[in-house]
Amino acid sequence: MNRTITVNNMDGDPVEVPAKWVLCPDCGGEGTLPPGYVLSEEQTSDPEFMEDYMAGKYDRQCHICRGASKLLVPDRVFLSESLLEAMEIEAEAERENAAEIESERRYLYGPEY
Ligand SMILES: [Zn+2]
Repeated sequence: MNRTITVNNMDGDPVEVPAKWVLCPDCGGEGTLPPGYVLSEEQTSDPEFMEDYMAGKYDRQCHICRGASKLLVPDRVFLSESLLEAMEIEAEAERENAAEIESERRYLYGPEY
């Protein structure tokens, strides 16, 4: 398998670099995440609910790896310093973007979604 990934350099031009697979750091390779809300007493005392909960029925797909459990990331060993810097800037923008989407989602659907 050809393991490369395309990243943008400082000029915004796409460059193909060697890549490697890593376990998704967000879900720990699970591919899903727990719902992320606090369970009510009514829920925790409902054995049927708890069974479903522990079986992962209420989990949502991990938004980082989208259920794939692993991520193809640029292999930093092969990258130039300026390319690393460009990636850092891009990652920062992506984090801000993700936080924005998350807060919008909470606003629309409430914290229990
Ligand atoms: Zn994940």
